[in-house]
Amino acid sequence: MNHETSRDLYDRALSVLPGGVNSSVRATQPYPAFIERGDGGHVIDADGNRYIDYVMGYGPLLLGHDLPESVRAAIQSSMSDGPMYGAPTEIEVELAEFVARHVPSVEMLRFVNSGTEATVSAVRLARGYTGRGKIVVMQGGYHGAQESTLVAGDAENARSSSPGVPQTFAEHTIPVPFNDSEAIEEVFETHGEEIAAVLTEPLLGNTAGVPPVEGYHEQLRELCDESGALLIFDEVMTGFRVGGLQCAQGKLGVTPDLTTFAKIIGGGFPAGAVGGPAEILESFTPAGDVFQSGTFSGHPVAMAAGLETLRYAAENDVYDHVNRLGKQLRTGIADIVSDRAPGYTILGTDSMFKLVFTRAGATDIDEACIPGYRQTPDSDCFDHCPKTGADVESAETDRWDRLFRPAMKEEGVFLTANQLESQFVSDAHTDEDVEQTLEAYKEFFE
Ligand SMILES: *Cc1c(COP(=O)(O)O)cnc(C)c1O
Repeated sequence: MNHETSRDLYDRALSVLPGGVNSSVRATQPYPAFIERGDGGHVIDADGNRYIDYVMGYGPLLLGHDLPESVRAAIQSSMSDGPMYGAPTEIEVELAEFVARHVPSVEMLRFVNSGTEATVSAVRLARGYTGRGKIVVMQGGYHGAQESTLVAGDAENARSSSPGVPQTFAEHTIPVPFNDSEAIEEVFETHGEEIAAVLTEPLLGNTAGVPPVEGYHEQLRELCDESGALLIFDEVMTGFRVGGLQCAQGKLGVTPDLTTFAKIIGGGFPAGAVGGPAEILESFTPAGDVFQSGTFSGHPVAMAAGLETLRYAAENDVYDHVNRLGKQLRTGIADIVSDRAPGYTILGTDSMFKLVFTRAGATDIDEACIPGYRQTPDSDCFDHCPKTGADVESAETDRWDRLFRPAMKEEGVFLTANQLESQFVSDAHTDEDVEQTLEAYKEFFE
């Protein structure tokens, strides 16, 4: 494969964009492929190389790169009416009605423009509604580029994880290990009265998709109820992907107080939302007094793209298709690594998949581990499956980044930047794409 044009573009980019990119994870080594266009389940880069694309915009593109006619028509019609108004439009109401109809915990929504903005607003809402200050987050969870959650360390020793985030922000955040029922119990014993919310992804989508251990979310629900804190599910990645239109909360059978959405809800355009019961959502201005506002919020083109994408998914067998291919990839990869690397774990559920290069405790199992959407103690590989973000972060990251990903790219399979980022199947992927992808995995492990 020739990558000269991408290399030249990266050279130019480095002069005018910090690190050559506009979102840090895109800066893959030695330089990223600059994408020229999408084609179904594929992308074509600036040098004309074609790849099977499992990045899919890092999650938003449920339908792939060629939008169905109904979605395209709605976007074009909205665009030709005019880009936006600073006044309400019917399409915002329609998308809100659609989401409220399908997602169990949602009665009302406030639309914003990104996942980050959704979690910022949800945290402010939780603090305003409860009159409390502290937010509990999961180590290895990701909630966007915001001050309250760019925090590392543990409950006794929280520190900001980026320069520019004052330590005083970290003092209001309590990071705990995911799936650790004793740690969360202790935090509620010590700080129960001060906790505004527990903010968690249903599964740690940003550390490869670590699934919850059975009972963990139920415990979070109970602790929040007892103490008067809110449970916030960050479904920015899992929303309208895991569990289909009911989202991960429906599949898990746990009802959060607030849910954050983005990615798929904008159908490939910038949109996000905070959803929940009217009783809480009406604390937002102008119904209540928790300030929230946005020039582009509820942007008609993004609302049209989101609504028609979700309608298309509701009326076609999108979830059956992507989940079937996701399962083929997970079981196919497990089969390939079971000889050469039985300790490796295949994370993901529905249309998410990721092979994690873990080694810990691998010696006494002969099959690769596929935990699914929930980990149960009676499953064969329970002891070997990653339970926390740290379990994934301690895997063989260099091998993944420097050897595996570049090799897959040369084989025409476009994977997310590193071991921590999940990969996504779209409705445009085909059985043939999956076969070809599994051949590439086989090649690498032979
Ligand atoms: C992507 C993501 C975010 C951030 O969303 P942006 O639109 O990139 O700001 C927040 N939370 C989760 C779970 C995500 O996957």
